[in-house]
Amino acid sequence: MRTDTGRIIHLADYRPTDFVLERVDLTFELDPEATKVEARLIFHRRDGVDPAAPLVLDGDELTLSGLLFDQMEMAPERYTATPDALVVRDLPETSPFELTITTIINPQANSQLMGLYRSSGIYCTQCEAEGFRRITYFPDRPDVLAPYTITIIADKAANPLLLSNGNYLGGGNFDEGRHFAAWFDPHPKPAYLFALVAGDLGVVEDKFTTMSGREVALKIYVEHGKESRAAYAMDALKRSMKWDEEVFGREYDLDIFMIVAVSDFNMGAMENKGLNVFNDKYVLADPETATDADYANIEAIIAHEYFHNWTGNRITCRDWFQLCLKEGLTVFRDHEFSADQRSRPVKRIAEVRHLRSEQFPEDAGPLAHPVRPDKYREINNFYTTTVYEKGSEVTRMIATILGRDRFKKGMDLYFERHDGEAATVEDFVRCFEDASGRDLGQFSLWYNQAGTPHVTVTADYDAAAKTLTLEIGQTVPPTPGQAHKKPMHIPLDLALVLEDGTIAVPASVDGAEMTGSVLHLKEARHTVTFTGIPSRPALSLNRSFSAPIVVRYDQKPADLALIARHETDLFSRWQAITDLALPALKDAALAARKGEAIQIDVTFADALLAVAADPALEPAFRAQALALPSEADIARELGGDNDPDAIHAGREAVLTAIARAGADAFRTLCDTMTAEGAYSPDAASAGRRALRNAALLYRTIAEDTPALAAEAFAKADNMTDLAQALTVLAHRFPEAPETHAALSAFEARFAENALVIDKWFQIQATIPGEGALARVMRLKENRHFNENNPNRVRSLVGAFVFSNPTGFNRADGAGYRFLAEEILRIDAKNPQLAARLLTSMRSWRQLEPGRAELARAALVRVEREVLSNDVRDIVDRTLKG
Ligand SMILES: [Zn+2]
Repeated sequence: MRTDTGRIIHLADYRPTDFVLERVDLTFELDPEATKVEARLIFHRRDGVDPAAPLVLDGDELTLSGLLFDQMEMAPERYTATPDALVVRDLPETSPFELTITTIINPQANSQLMGLYRSSGIYCTQCEAEGFRRITYFPDRPDVLAPYTITIIADKAANPLLLSNGNYLGGGNFDEGRHFAAWFDPHPKPAYLFALVAGDLGVVEDKFTTMSGREVALKIYVEHGKESRAAYAMDALKRSMKWDEEVFGREYDLDIFMIVAVSDFNMGAMENKGLNVFNDKYVLADPETATDADYANIEAIIAHEYFHNWTGNRITCRDWFQLCLKEGLTVFRDHEFSADQRSRPVKRIAEVRHLRSEQFPEDAGPLAHPVRPDKYREINNFYTTTVYEKGSEVTRMIATILGRDRFKKGMDLYFERHDGEAATVEDFVRCFEDASGRDLGQFSLWYNQAGTPHVTVTADYDAAAKTLTLEIGQTVPPTPGQAHKKPMHIPLDLALVLEDGTIAVPASVDGAEMTGSVLHLKEARHTVTFTGIPSRPALSLNRSFSAPIVVRYDQKPADLALIARHETDLFSRWQAITDLALPALKDAALAARKGEAIQIDVTFADALLAVAADPALEPAFRAQALALPSEADIARELGGDNDPDAIHAGREAVLTAIARAGADAFRTLCDTMTAEGAYSPDAASAGRRALRNAALLYRTIAEDTPALAAEAFAKADNMTDLAQALTVLAHRFPEAPETHAALSAFEARFAENALVIDKWFQIQATIPGEGALARVMRLKENRHFNENNPNRVRSLVGAFVFSNPTGFNRADGAGYRFLAEEILRIDAKNPQLAARLLTSMRSWRQLEPGRAELARAALVRVEREVLSNDVRDIVDRTLKG
């Protein structure tokens, strides 16, 4: 752990390094407990820098074991080495010089999984954000770019594979049964993109011919015996490469592209130049072991990391404050890719659901921060949904404001102007301004102001004048460190839906700029008048979710039903169905909170059931309509004093009412949405399964018997159906003999498959109700539980704290005390993982007073006893914000 605990880094303090790094030459002599790293670095002093200024290199838990200056032993009085830094003095005023730094590191003991570590016999690195400084002393910041030559020496029998970034230069045998390999990456890159992998792995090979006709070797490395499960990832990679050429004009730039799948990994995947390292859950898939969601995730994440080759690697970030420049943009690119590969509206609905359930609570709680923060204490804690998902939404809004062609022009200019550079958000935005002539000054507030804007709308239709007048106001709630906000530029896509289902085209619009169907809100208040509207329209607002905002408009149920039936924008149809269900969900939760009987008027469900049964609509969309807002969504809508048990009880009552009202429709869907032929993970087949499984859930609720799910479990010929049937059994009938039998059968069948056993843990960790905590504690004793594997910890502890609202938020606070214990223990080994788990407490102030006090007490305990900077940062902000 770093010892600079508590130091706050400010964007305003940015300045370039005093020394320019020209070249990096690294030699690794791999050994599990004593790997020798020799770094030869060529520097020169930057023009105009004080000739007396020392060179300061970053370190983290390092011990210096040798230092040469231009190949000569360096005099001890010329440098100071501590675990955190190497400071070298008396350096040349202008001429380049070479430092050779030797360190000895222990990959086996590296349980943080940052820097060089060893797991399951494989050497592997993770250097983003600041892991390279755990390997050698280095100017470890993203604006220091250089070409790298890497030589790896290791025992040949144990490590037949020696991989690094760039192109393979050559290799051969070395002394004492060892061998070596050399790699050269000609593209200047920052240290966070460095990677090294060594060990014994199986490989799947293919090739790709780029648009200019160059052949690229593609290799995916996995554990021996798992090669057949990498076929889908390889297919996704080739489609990604093609798509980036066709849509963004981006071609791959090395002779080889490699992906390595490892089982111990803190993140999803990492875009190291030419050598992506993946959490194996985002590589391995076959019908027996992967769900449709797993396939979709693999496709998206393979694409995401590949797209980073241009947005992140060729053009990188000047400093970590600019993280959204690579992440928000690349998430936008992978969303577009998935939308093109699958169904665009269904993909959009899934994105928005995710944004609302993960990013909106972050933006409304103590951990809220701008898409581009202006200060941080621990950068690892800023790999957040705000930087990624809201960052993507901000890019998407630029495309909406500019239109497709001018957005494309802006992207082309960005690639042309900044290739090979470390850029800023300002550089990015300027490209779009220059390409379009449009001023994006006010729009840039999206990068700097935290909090989800609220837009309030009232409508007044004048039948005599045939005008519609909207009063539109916007506010951005205060967030930590930002009490007052300025009005934002919000692109609000809207449609006026007439009674016959057609969309009105106004004769004129007054009061705000309108381009196409997008209204540009820029003031705190607008009065917008549409003329030539023949009859009172229903107002469809924020179509396709054109801006990441909360819209408050008192919509009549009849208008929502009209939109649900007729909107041409499918996202808006889905939104209307959701909005129809929300009042029932809120009322039921409030009634349960007061201990009153829950009364449900199911007329709201008519529109939902009509969509579910409509054969003209794609099954995946119909399945999305049937998936009601989650308990977290309802909690957010209620906005405070929340009792998770009441929310759960209310939602259950609404589900039951829908299940009964639609009993016939659900039976028909179960019978008709059957598979055609062998399993295929394509989007259309996945949609049919999703719809059938949604119907199965409603039928089970209506009939209140485990029999249907038990039968589905027995008949399932793929993991999607199997896991869904097991979830229904476990969550609805946790004590039924059918459930015990299914859980045992599942565990026995997949005992050797870690990724499937993760699902087994996750399904049980999310069984709602009071018994959940005891169950999770029991599962921690299970022979499959392994506290050192991040995936396993996330599948049990993570699933419980993030996805089991009633189990975790027990009224007696036992869930919070359990989390505090877990955090303190995990923190000692893996601070990043512990800090991430603790963000599950970000909405504690929204709880009713009894639970909130118990949650606070658990946080205070963590604050008192925690050691790492990572967790301390999160706990301090969670308590104070
Ligand atoms: Zn990324």
